[in-house]
Amino acid sequence: MTIDISNILGEEKGVVSNFKGEVSYKDTVYQGDKISFSNPIEVNGNLSKGRDCLYIMINIRGNITIPCSRCAGEFSHEIDLSFTEEFKDIDDVVGEEELDVYTYQGTKIKLDRIIFEQILLNMPIKRLCKIDCMGLCPKCGIDLNEQKCNCDRDDDIDIRLLELKKLLPSKDREV
Ligand SMILES: [Zn+2]
Ligand SMILES: [Zn+2]
Repeated sequence: MTIDISNILGEEKGVVSNFKGEVSYKDTVYQGDKISFSNPIEVNGNLSKGRDCLYIMINIRGNITIPCSRCAGEFSHEIDLSFTEEFKDIDDVVGEEELDVYTYQGTKIKLDRIIFEQILLNMPIKRLCKIDCMGLCPKCGIDLNEQKCNCDRDDDIDIRLLELKKLLPSKDREV
């Protein structure tokens, strides 16, 4: 998705103009997990003129499909994010300390990459299909949300409790 900044460039500081559109991505792999973009991401935003830069405020909404960290089942994850980025004219960026700012050249700014970065940055750390997902049996691999198995899994203890148990000092483990 590309926005035209030719109008706002000629404006006074503080002038705001709105834009909207959508952006589509190919499925990708992030931290070993497949992310599916089955539908386009909806983009609403505005451009505002700063003293020597442009501010772009963006809200993105949509759904992606990601695998559950416990049971590997795919589930839909809702995205509703707002962020602001500052863009400078590439000809005004001189110092090395400014190398990490976003730049524009000419009268168009392509938003695909910065939106993609925000989606990845805001991926949930724990990706669970549901808060109480039982996960897979570590012994036989059965999906414990759907079936039970007869494996000896430390008294059928929940994985979360198991993680918690590891953190506790050993004298408290006899509870
Ligand atoms: Zn799950
Ligand atoms: Zn099992």
